[in-house]
Amino acid sequence: MDISKFFSADIYEMVQQIEGTDKLKRKENLEFLVELTQFRNLVTHIENQEYSSGQNLYFSLGNSPYIGIGSHYDVVENSPGANDNASAVAVTIDVLRKIKENPLRNLGVKGFFFDEEELGLIGSRAYVERYGINDLLGVYNMELVGNGNILALWSVDEKQDTLLLRTLESEARKKGIQTIRFPRIIANTADHMSFRKKGLEDSFTLTMITEEDLKMAPLYYQALNQGFSPDELWEITEKAPVFKHYHKPTDTSEHIDSKTLELVSDLLYNSIRTIDENYK
Ligand SMILES: [Zn+2]
Repeated sequence: MDISKFFSADIYEMVQQIEGTDKLKRKENLEFLVELTQFRNLVTHIENQEYSSGQNLYFSLGNSPYIGIGSHYDVVENSPGANDNASAVAVTIDVLRKIKENPLRNLGVKGFFFDEEELGLIGSRAYVERYGINDLLGVYNMELVGNGNILALWSVDEKQDTLLLRTLESEARKKGIQTIRFPRIIANTADHMSFRKKGLEDSFTLTMITEEDLKMAPLYYQALNQGFSPDELWEITEKAPVFKHYHKPTDTSEHIDSKTLELVSDLLYNSIRTIDENYK
């Protein structure tokens, strides 16, 4: 697909366009996207944040306070990075263009494309250091949203009762989609942690999983209760099917389901709409 057709592509086609490219190419494509008139009209603010070792991009629509939606655009070596994390980049773009079609009334949205997530959340940390969290209500961050029908939310414990979280869960319930909270890791970590550490409680990560993955959950919780180390927990987590292609040469769009991508985009879009409508 020609990158100039990116804007009119569906989410799955966007993933196909991004997969197999390295992060420089991904950045180039995102920058190209910004150059496209349609996208330029879409956003009210574009920031290309260069920091010591990398570069974040973010696009905002409307004014603060903002709801953040996030993805990282970097990719590990020797992986086409379709699910990790082209899926999230494509969904982020799709949510932004839906909001462009149907603007919010009371709130703005910030779409994040972070660099160097894979090297230890360096990009998102650079973002919060530079811009802080005061203009954000919360952040919906995404990792591996390309396959499955169950929404895993992490790191979120049973007690958490925050606006973005509550709204997303209730939108999922309306559609008959199961959600499950994981108090700690799914993957090692994710960009929501940079915001959380800065004090933004209502920031968490969405990952799509399957019934098969869910069967691993009791094992995981057992290990968690027994005080296993993060490395030991990861060893258990890694056996779940969602991680079968994670960081591997097989992380291709073949293992991505366009229905899942559409579902995540719709859920996020509906949640943002609901929050906007009730915001005073
Ligand atoms: Zn990732």
